[in-house]
Amino acid sequence: APRLVLVLGDQLTETVAALRAADRGRDLVLMVEVMDEATHVPHHPQKIAIFFAAMRKFAARLAGKGWRVAYSRLDDPDNAGSIPAELLRRAEETGAFEAIATAPGDWRLRAALEAVPLRLRILEDDRFLCSARDFAAWAKGRKTLRMEWFYREMRRRTGLLMEGDAPAGGRWNFDAENRKPPKAGLGFPDPPVFAPDRTVREVLDIVADRFGAHFGELEPFGWPTDRDEALTLLAHFLRRALPCFGDFQDAMVTGVPVMFHSLLSPALNLGLLSPLEVCRAAEAEWRAGRAPLNAVEGFIRQILGWREFIRGVWSLEGPDYMRRNALGHRRKLPALYWGAPTRMRCMAEVVGQTRRRAYAHHIQRLMVTGNFALLSGVDPAEVHRWYLSVYADAVEWVEAPNTLGMSQFADGGMVASKPYVSSGAYINRMSDYCRGCAYDVTARTGPNACPFNLLYWHFLDRHRDRFAANPRMAQIYRGWDGRDGAVRARVLAEAEAFLARLDAGEPV
Ligand code: FAD
Ligand code: SF4
Repeated sequence: APRLVLVLGDQLTETVAALRAADRGRDLVLMVEVMDEATHVPHHPQKIAIFFAAMRKFAARLAGKGWRVAYSRLDDPDNAGSIPAELLRRAEETGAFEAIATAPGDWRLRAALEAVPLRLRILEDDRFLCSARDFAAWAKGRKTLRMEWFYREMRRRTGLLMEGDAPAGGRWNFDAENRKPPKAGLGFPDPPVFAPDRTVREVLDIVADRFGAHFGELEPFGWPTDRDEALTLLAHFLRRALPCFGDFQDAMVTGVPVMFHSLLSPALNLGLLSPLEVCRAAEAEWRAGRAPLNAVEGFIRQILGWREFIRGVWSLEGPDYMRRNALGHRRKLPALYWGAPTRMRCMAEVVGQTRRRAYAHHIQRLMVTGNFALLSGVDPAEVHRWYLSVYADAVEWVEAPNTLGMSQFADGGMVASKPYVSSGAYINRMSDYCRGCAYDVTARTGPNACPFNLLYWHFLDRHRDRFAANPRMAQIYRGWDGRDGAVRARVLAEAEAFLARLDAGEPV
């Protein structure tokens, strides 16, 4: 009997572990579109479309290379609705009693697979530059895990941007040069749009029909859904955006969601591109003198550093990580995250582009929507569910440590050494949002005071016990304590009133 070779929607790599272990002449590749995966959170329609379209094209590519592929479409009448149920149905159909899978990047699915009554071999997903075992060895005995140390180790290990034993340019990190605010008149490259081909069109029709009620607009749809398109996107990024990537990495501009970012995260997370090839391609731009070192180092750090570090934390911490709530936050996610009107320009802008494109860049996720949720004390599980739903690149292994750890401090400081919170001043410095806002970013109290200004102090005040001793925050507390007692009381009372309006579902 053949063995079943399960290939999941984010395992679209021809050399993925399960395919390497399989026998093309004998085994049957199994790929499934199922309702269960499409609805366990209300994914953005564009996200569902990327997965299904990329899966269909990948299945066709495998078939073209001589693999036998059993592909279950969402609308197949026999579709059993979940991945375990589809495995069993195909096993019965073919007489298979053995199956091979590559480990999923989602603990929920892993547990479901382990419970399937078949002889199922789950192989490590080795498409990362640091294996789970190597990360655990690196983490062992360390009191705190800091990305920067991990990243240096990865630079040495891969030789990326190294000159012998030394970092290229004499420094590991050029972040100090990478925090420029947007400047007037800055021109941006247009991100490439991949017009839907026949496969994508079919999928868009199904998604519109079945998932049209989910938050998010399905069209225009312009994401890459196969390797060739992903390579085109990479080439465009290297030529047009990479040279400016560093300088304006943290900047935000109204109406320009992508700026100099790459849009490569879905292609990377689905396996259409490998992290090493993307890093090598960026390094080559620097070596050829086409992009400055601060840009190339900043970009490579995101992938070789952050992406691998985040993956390591996810694998090290296990399924329990998804339930962390170190700050004891309990508030429900405000309706404005699902598009309810708000006077806050920054939130309206980021949520609006998320609805239209299933995309926001890192600082928008961290310092606008993430910051607001953390300051307001939203239950991190609800925040996690939102980020997992609305972004095209969201899969648990990368979304959860970014949301729960980096953004919401729910892991008590494993990923972030201090909470990523700010008043309106940071958003004002790094964006042009405040200029068009009904609130006044310079007002600290009063009816038009920027909510971030009120909530920032409310957050610090209510978590004083935890953060006052943090050396990186002590000065902030000293500044707060030095303010007039009546002013402090007023800030806190206005913050309370704002949160009460939020809870009552009143527009804010
Ligand atoms: P670029 O700015 O062009 O960066 C290049 C690449 O670096 C990205 O494609 C991505 O692969 C990698 N990268 C950058 N930052 C990170 C990071 N912190 N963690 C992991 N990889 C990183 N990224 C996801 O891929 N999926 C998610 O579900 C996700 N959820 C997030 C949730 C929150 C609350 C935050 C703060 C960040 C999240 N990120 C997530 C990280 C980051 O925001 C996105 O990877 C990035 O915005 C994707 O856009 P880009 O491809 O244009 O990135
Ligand atoms: Fe956002 Fe405050 Fe600026 Fe308005 S004033 S855009 S709410 S930071």
